[in-house]
Amino acid sequence: MPFFDGHNDVLIRLSDDQPQAWLTGHPATHLDLPRARRAGMFGGLFAIYTESQWGQPIDPAVAVAHTDCVIDRLNRMLDHANDSVRLVRNMAELDACVRAGAFAVVLHIEGAEAVAADLSNLDYWYERGVRSLGLTWSRTNAFAQGVGPGDTGEGLTAAGRDLVRQCNARGIAVDLSHLNDAGFRDVADLSQTPLIASHSNARPLCPNERNLTDDQLNAIRNSAGIVGMNFHAAFLRENGTPQSTSVRDIADHACYIVDRIGVDHVGLGSDFDGCDIPADLVDVTGLPRLADTLRDRGASQADLDLFNWKNWRRVLQATWK
Ligand code: ZN
Repeated sequence: MPFFDGHNDVLIRLSDDQPQAWLTGHPATHLDLPRARRAGMFGGLFAIYTESQWGQPIDPAVAVAHTDCVIDRLNRMLDHANDSVRLVRNMAELDACVRAGAFAVVLHIEGAEAVAADLSNLDYWYERGVRSLGLTWSRTNAFAQGVGPGDTGEGLTAAGRDLVRQCNARGIAVDLSHLNDAGFRDVADLSQTPLIASHSNARPLCPNERNLTDDQLNAIRNSAGIVGMNFHAAFLRENGTPQSTSVRDIADHACYIVDRIGVDHVGLGSDFDGCDIPADLVDVTGLPRLADTLRDRGASQADLDLFNWKNWRRVLQATWK
């Protein structure tokens, strides 16, 4: 069964001097190429994330240097891949990649600090292959505010609104996960493309501000958008840990969202290698077990195809044009 995952972190974890580690097997991670193959995963979005102390703003120059460094590292890894992994930048490349049996990497930046506030380097990132952008991680920057406890922050800045328009114009996906509620509303009002929350769950089931309210889910449905299910234990259940959560909790969130806004708007958004996943999922090879659990809950093969990859393909196609 094929899987396309809307949010992975793993590429940035690879050490500089071992660009082939992800290709040959990297057991300390949730996801490497051999295990992705075993699971049936054929691609996904891969996030570049610049670390800072929790909630602290980040120096844009640091973010630029780090983002360049990760893309360089990815390119070195691709040089070792013998065409078994490809950076894909449009739908024709994604489809050709799948037909060739290669693994598709879509580049995502998580938190737009690497983008200059006047957007003067947005085309540079586009040229380097970035096709998806989260305005914030959970911190404040020139464009927007991230979620935090209480979540009472402001919406997008003028630069943030400009960034959404310019992403729309270029066909760069705008990711709402990590954005605060006011920012979510602003993007929903402004964006011309399907709304994407690449790795978030249902707030009514787990009251964490990283999860989505019913109103936000409705906005995603109304835009023909998608929610990628996040596997982080604390976003599955209040105070959840890998031991106290299971694949069934992921299925609970998926079923809640399907019941509320329909099967056309839910997909995978694991956050592999960026979070603590339920112990019984183990790693990417647990994806078929998630599919089996959803089948046990009544999902048809057509539903599973939408959930596992077709919804992501449709949304990316509508976004990239
Ligand atoms: Zn994230």
